[in-house]
Amino acid sequence: MLKTPYSDTLELRQSIIDTCIEMNRRGINQGTSGNISARAGDRMLITPSGVPYDRMTPEMLVSMPIDGKGDPEGDFPPSTEWQFHLALLRAKPEMHAVVHAHPVHCTALAINREEIPACHYMIAIFGGNSVPLAGYSLFGSEDLADDVTNTMRERSGCLMANHGAVVVGETLEKGLWRLEELEVLAKAYILSRTIGTPHILGDDEIGAVLGAVKNYGLKTT
Ligand code: 13P
Ligand code: ZN
Repeated sequence: MLKTPYSDTLELRQSIIDTCIEMNRRGINQGTSGNISARAGDRMLITPSGVPYDRMTPEMLVSMPIDGKGDPEGDFPPSTEWQFHLALLRAKPEMHAVVHAHPVHCTALAINREEIPACHYMIAIFGGNSVPLAGYSLFGSEDLADDVTNTMRERSGCLMANHGAVVVGETLEKGLWRLEELEVLAKAYILSRTIGTPHILGDDEIGAVLGAVKNYGLKTT
């Protein structure tokens, strides 16, 4: 397993592609929707725009300076969503990966312009008592990047109105784990509403979970 801090190696580039393929294999994304980036020193490596994951090769990834000062490096255009990837890595130095996708249940709630409330204790792995909703803006726009970054100021994931979801990860592996947990939460929340009225956990109950889940899961280095 790759250790953080990452640097721009063939292994990291291949891990980003493998994470994309695994995301689609697990059914939490489809086609060329979604994109993944990782922090490599003071640069970001991000997937190219619109390239099917099974045809993506390590040299197709695009390298960009995280401080935004300097040109991208690579022969392909970066993901159209490079602005929120860059902004999230800049805002969250402890995070080394950003994973964006269009998971069906997250997207269904986002179409209805709903956030996910504290319907399950695992909500706490996103840093609070909800997974909030970022407003709608054109995909790839600076407005969308601003809204996503503001919405995630106190959170490690959000839904995106009429679009999908995005999470950050301490590692690529934890980013994928968090995205899958988010899709499971969205699915369970929707299902619970079809069979009755969900019971929402209180702030004190979520507060007790927040500390307990801090170090839950795979070690980050
Ligand atoms: P890219 O193929 O440009 O990464 O775009 C996919 C996407 O999900 C846009 O929001
Ligand atoms: Zn998208």
